[in-house]
Amino acid sequence: MKRLLKELLNRFRKEDSIKSLDYYIYHDNLTGLPNKTSLMEDLPLYFNCIKENPVIIAIDINHFKLISDSMGPNFADELLQNVASRLNKIFGAGNVYRIDEAEYVVIYDHNSGKDLSESLTLVFSQLKKPYEIRRSKMYINVSMGVAPCRNGEKTPQEYLECAQRALEDTQRRGRNGFLIYKEYMDELVKEKMQIEKLLHKAVENREFEVYYQPQMILESGKISGFEALLRWNSPELGFVYPDQFIRIAEENRLIIPIGEFVLKKACSFLKKLHRIGYKNLSIAVNVSNVQLLNDGFINGVLDILEKTGLNPDKLVLEMTEEILTESYDMVKEKLISLKQKGIKIAMDDFGKNYSTLDVLSRLPINTLKIDKVFIENFLQDKPKQLITDLIISIGKKMGFEVLAEGVETREQYEYLKKYENIKAQGFYISKPVPIEHAEKIVRKYGPNIINWKLSCDYR
Ligand code: C2E
Ligand code: MG
Ligand code: MG
Repeated sequence: MKRLLKELLNRFRKEDSIKSLDYYIYHDNLTGLPNKTSLMEDLPLYFNCIKENPVIIAIDINHFKLISDSMGPNFADELLQNVASRLNKIFGAGNVYRIDEAEYVVIYDHNSGKDLSESLTLVFSQLKKPYEIRRSKMYINVSMGVAPCRNGEKTPQEYLECAQRALEDTQRRGRNGFLIYKEYMDELVKEKMQIEKLLHKAVENREFEVYYQPQMILESGKISGFEALLRWNSPELGFVYPDQFIRIAEENRLIIPIGEFVLKKACSFLKKLHRIGYKNLSIAVNVSNVQLLNDGFINGVLDILEKTGLNPDKLVLEMTEEILTESYDMVKEKLISLKQKGIKIAMDDFGKNYSTLDVLSRLPINTLKIDKVFIENFLQDKPKQLITDLIISIGKKMGFEVLAEGVETREQYEYLKKYENIKAQGFYISKPVPIEHAEKIVRKYGPNIINWKLSCDYR
């Protein structure tokens, strides 16, 4: 009897350990979701069983590494668990996989009767609702790539790659939303790999240059300063605009040395203009969130100010609304300390994404830069014009300096001029120009740019 019991116990232990070994192989320990191994085995089975409308969605939490670096790994783990259970609620347990640090994959049968984009918009808004972590609300953004799978055209593995390519394209375009796979995305992947390879060399070989675009006070017609804009003169690719490489430089953190280069160049240029007598001019420099969240950021900025001898209140750091809203809890101390040193902060591209007035009232910013999407054709589009008018007056009432970006026509310029105390920037006033031209503008016209027109085309 004793022997029989022992044998049964041993057998039970063996089965149990086999089960747990299985579990370990096929599941992610942190969230309990099936993992990549499980996904690769399930994909073909799923396709064999479901003959309707299988859809694969790849989902990534934006800036997860930065969240983890600044909020700590335990907080980040809780976030991953929260996202996992929200996905399970939306799609049903068993359909959601965690395949990488902050990347999830969902396979489901799209048979809701709704249009796919409509369903995805709903999913997206559910995922963006705040997550309750340690009694505080955490706002995140996600990017999604979607591959509707028409059976037989591609292998399940290829469909998964399509969803991941669509995810990459969503990330490339600003990360906030979803895209459904299209064939052109295959080319983008190759392009990205090439830029990534060449970017390392570009930093070593100093292939970058800074251009300057005047910012103007509309009432007086005077230049108040310049925005520094990065350009890459690549021997292999030609003249590359920042939209094509900044995001890649952020991903591989090359933006840190590149950003430092821009800041140094821009501050020394402005100091030179101050020395020749134009002491009121300011310089605006774009800062990415990878730079801002980097530990040495504030000391780096102060060091450059000290070395160039530039007055801190003539430096404006431009940050997008994405950084300021999404990473607010992580960056607020830094923003406050920059402001205490006298450095100004501008919210760039306001209105392009999702800022709320509530966020605006909490942020220590000085300038609101209204995104060019509002200015573009706004005189032909009444509702747009109304919104632009409202944003300008709310911004001014909240005590911000307001600057309209993307002023391209005389009509837009004249219309905006009716506002007191508003600044503008755009091709109508001047395109971004190389340093020697920027200096020429100031020397020739003093700070008065009103009659100045640039003869050559830089963009
Ligand atoms: P941004 O900071 O919003 O800069 C304004 C962009 O609008 C610039 O594009 C500028 O050339 C363009 N622009 C100016 N006036 C007009 C206009 O009237 N019409 C139109 N259609 N466009 C106009 P650019 O130089 O290609 O830069 C694109 C973005 O790349 C910038 O947007 C900024 O977010 C980023 N960027 C540029 N330089 C840097 C940098 O040094 N560091 C970082 N982190 N980002 C940078
Ligand atoms: Mg800017
Ligand atoms: Mg902008």
